[in-house]
Amino acid sequence: MACSRPRTTLSPSSTGEMHMARDADGFEFDVVVVGASFAGAACAIAAAWRGLRVCVLERKRDPGDKLRTTGIIVKEAAEQTLLQHLPAAMTRRIESVRLYAPSLKQVALAAPGYYFLTTDTPAVMRWLAGQLRGHGADLRLGCAFTDAGRIDGGWEVTGVGRTRYLVGADGARSRVARRCGLGEVRQFLYGIEYEFPGARLADADALHCFISRRYAPGYIGWLAQNPGGVQAGLALRHDPAQARVPDIDGFLLRAGIAGGLPRHLRPGHTRAGLIPCSGPVLDLARDHAILTGDAAGIVSPVTAGGIHAAWEHGETVGAAIAAHLRDGGPAPETVAIAAAPRFRTKRALRWLYDRLQFDWPFDLLLHSPPLRWAAEQVYFHKRGS
Ligand SMILES: Cc1cc2nc3c(=O)[nH]c(=O)nc-3n(C[C@H](O)[C@H](O)[C@H](O)COP(=O)(O)OP(=O)(O)OC[C@H]3O[C@@H](n4cnc5c(N)ncnc54)[C@H](O)[C@@H]3O)c2cc1C
Repeated sequence: MACSRPRTTLSPSSTGEMHMARDADGFEFDVVVVGASFAGAACAIAAAWRGLRVCVLERKRDPGDKLRTTGIIVKEAAEQTLLQHLPAAMTRRIESVRLYAPSLKQVALAAPGYYFLTTDTPAVMRWLAGQLRGHGADLRLGCAFTDAGRIDGGWEVTGVGRTRYLVGADGARSRVARRCGLGEVRQFLYGIEYEFPGARLADADALHCFISRRYAPGYIGWLAQNPGGVQAGLALRHDPAQARVPDIDGFLLRAGIAGGLPRHLRPGHTRAGLIPCSGPVLDLARDHAILTGDAAGIVSPVTAGGIHAAWEHGETVGAAIAAHLRDGGPAPETVAIAAAPRFRTKRALRWLYDRLQFDWPFDLLLHSPPLRWAAEQVYFHKRGS
């Protein structure tokens, strides 16, 4: 599919087709970013804001369509990134966590001053698209990256044109990684979630998290109140050789009432997707091609939260490309590799949880100070005020 499109800054070719003007070295773009979600938006905005010619390819026509995230934003991202400008109507502040043992015994966790934002995620994704355009990026919706070939000093992206840098922010199964010979994510959790528009939890101010080896081996289940309804989901270890269908209906039958979800609700949309859980890929950047966000495996192996990390890394990559092209800064590939969090401790915890997740210690010890401390480390990292 050809992704070029007419714009006022285009120049007509001899065939009458409109093309982006090339610079003296023959490049239409400084950066082509694949994916207009968190990592791609952060990268493209950082580069465009510094004056680069940025093109963003997003295969969805509507960026709010077919979501693969619960969209919960941690305090740091809500306060220290562009996401701080999200319209208030798109977010809901959640200040505590209710953690449920497999027996449904529960404990309330909080860190004063700390919070999460649940979101009207489709609206957030459309807002991001508006921000991309507002910052001068050439956002092409409904335009899938298919292939790219190496050229001197950059890449020729099929149907798009020549770019000095190609950034893969195209999620856990990155086509950019495959086509450019970069590292691919190999270990995943699989997350699935129902949306219940208009529903309300009994305790709507908490994030409800459920430990259950039966329903969510390797991770947890959750219920969360967002600005317009409830999201209920679970994630589990993904083993392609023994793929099992997550029993989200069984999970909701067991956990829904305990978590304060009204009975007999019908789900609206379903969100589902793979979550990288083994840390950054080895070959994250090379030869003017760089991976970021989920494509680079930059997701916490413990919390499975990736939005903040995707934003931070994407922004670093966009700024590094600009610094390199405009001011002769260090190679952005080197910066991208150095900036990728390694998650060493969290990977070790993931390894342990994967092998030693038994129900009885949580049933027995949920209220004990060590378990409570460990849970608060995971959810809040002692990051309250
Ligand atoms: C069920 C689930 C729940 C989650 N909940 C949370 C949460 O609450 N909080 C949190 O912090 N993290 C959560 N995560 C993880 C988080 O969603 C991701 O880490 C984050 O979205 C990563 O952002 P990204 O921009 O790297 O990739 P993605 O959000 O995956 O975006 C990739 C983008 O690239 C586009 N794309 C893909 N291929 C192509 C192509 N060939 N051409 C053009 N475009 C393409 C896609 O359409 C998409 O828009 C969740 C993940 C899942 C699966």
